[in-house]
Amino acid sequence: MTPRPWRPTRRAFLASSVAATLAAACSGGDDSAGPAPDTTTSSTQAPADTTPTPTPSAEPIPGTTPEPLEPVDLPGDPFTLGVASGDPTSTSVILWTRLAPTPLDGGGMPDENLDVTWEVALDVSFVGLVASGRTPAIPGLAHSVHVDATGLAADTWYFYRFRIGEWTSPVGRCRTLPAVGATVESLRFGFSSCQNYEHGFYAAHANLALEDLDLFVWLGDYIYEAAPGRDPIQIPGGAARSHTAGECFTLADYRNRYALYKTDPNLQASHAARPWIVTWDDHEVVNDYAGPFGPDGATGAVFDERRAAGYLAWYEHMPVRLDPPDGVGWDIHRTIDWGDLASLFMLDGRQYRDDQPTDGDRVSIPGFGDALPITTIGPTAMDPDHSMLGADQEAWLLDGLRAAGPRWKVLANQVMMHGATLPLGDEPVVVNDTWDGYFANRRRILETIAADGVDDVVVLTGDFHSATVGDVKPDPFDAASPVVATEFMASSITSRFPLGENVGLIAPLLTASNPQIRFFDARKGYCTCEVTPDSWTTTYRAIADATVPDQQAETLSTWRVVAGTPGAQPI
Ligand code: FE
Ligand code: CA
Repeated sequence: MTPRPWRPTRRAFLASSVAATLAAACSGGDDSAGPAPDTTTSSTQAPADTTPTPTPSAEPIPGTTPEPLEPVDLPGDPFTLGVASGDPTSTSVILWTRLAPTPLDGGGMPDENLDVTWEVALDVSFVGLVASGRTPAIPGLAHSVHVDATGLAADTWYFYRFRIGEWTSPVGRCRTLPAVGATVESLRFGFSSCQNYEHGFYAAHANLALEDLDLFVWLGDYIYEAAPGRDPIQIPGGAARSHTAGECFTLADYRNRYALYKTDPNLQASHAARPWIVTWDDHEVVNDYAGPFGPDGATGAVFDERRAAGYLAWYEHMPVRLDPPDGVGWDIHRTIDWGDLASLFMLDGRQYRDDQPTDGDRVSIPGFGDALPITTIGPTAMDPDHSMLGADQEAWLLDGLRAAGPRWKVLANQVMMHGATLPLGDEPVVVNDTWDGYFANRRRILETIAADGVDDVVVLTGDFHSATVGDVKPDPFDAASPVVATEFMASSITSRFPLGENVGLIAPLLTASNPQIRFFDARKGYCTCEVTPDSWTTTYRAIADATVPDQQAETLSTWRVVAGTPGAQPI
């Protein structure tokens, strides 16, 4: 591997311009975090510059040098991993940071509990605090904190920061949800997944930080667990940058891996810009694991310990409204309601799934041999009880969909649901880690949704390192099967599509044999969504080359779903 040269000055300049734009956008001329609270009508958004053009005249956010608190003996600035917010309610939001003066080597904190001060304000100078407090950062959770900042107004933007001793964290911007059940006319949010550090730089996050969005939804593969240069998908010419330690197995390994990713200033800016709502996929533990089944299907105490380490480290680094895990068997599926406009179902398609089928015929792929999980559809995939979500989560989802009423029902989902046969032979072959490997289970879920009259279902997906628009059907490969939902699959932030990003050849072959796939593009990026009671509009944003640090995102395509009519149309 030959790492490309690092360009810290340019990246720092981008990140600081993000911070400055954030401050300028949020100040609105009066230093307030956004318009006055409005809990009964449309959602409110702070004005923001949606043109992600870095400007060299960036100024730091003002008002961030308060009087020092009582001295604390630390080896350096503990706020190396930035700040984050997440899982808002209409009255509160989770605020996250982790104290880590030496982030890549265990954090460098003393082995004791230390109090962190947190502050929430409407103004970026933090003159008028609306909430504040102290919370202990403890060694057992890697000195991470998850503050539930309560007593906030609905549908309102705030600034937040943390302090300890002489140090003050970067400033983040967060917001609450509209009031429960409020009539809401608009939601703007983004989503993406898959940010393999070795596959590129986080230019997509720099662009995301400047988008005008209420929320960001993360669909998994926040980290990749592999040793340097050992990801199954390789970059021609070598990695863009390198993992700094071996494959993750222990809690210490996973903590250092999260810390490596989180030291990236563009990822920090993307977190600081708005609340994230996160779920996970496989690489937060290991490639293609399935519940208790680890690599090669092995089960047992050793893999359970590895999984528990991955789960705890994920908790320690994510702004989630959850209690810490105690081993495996830790429910993270949950819902977020945006007034009466949308219900977001955060799914966990990893922890409770049955193992990928092994009774289909395996297919070799040029350059990969039989290393990819691509097979014909065998008897296991056609068993409706061969489950992706597990029985309990599937029942929870179906009950929630039936109870959600007329609003948009959004499935924040890991792996491709619209299905894809790959043009590799006479018989259909599929990626059996996707819902195609759980073919009859998917059919049962979608037929139940259709039979129960659940409409306006939108599926958000990551994992595939490429973007699609898809018609979601109980049987994807039967032209007569009805469209019951619409799927928007975002590309990845950096992670490479196995067959490369030049899809001039692949896209026509894929869409010709899969009429349910309406759009395909493997360039790196994210989706933004504008949701109203009448329509859902998804815009595909991409950068040209993730191995180049600074890239301005461009719009590839825009698609719209009209309420009451599943299936998207290009606009
Ligand atoms: Fe991935
Ligand atoms: Ca994945």
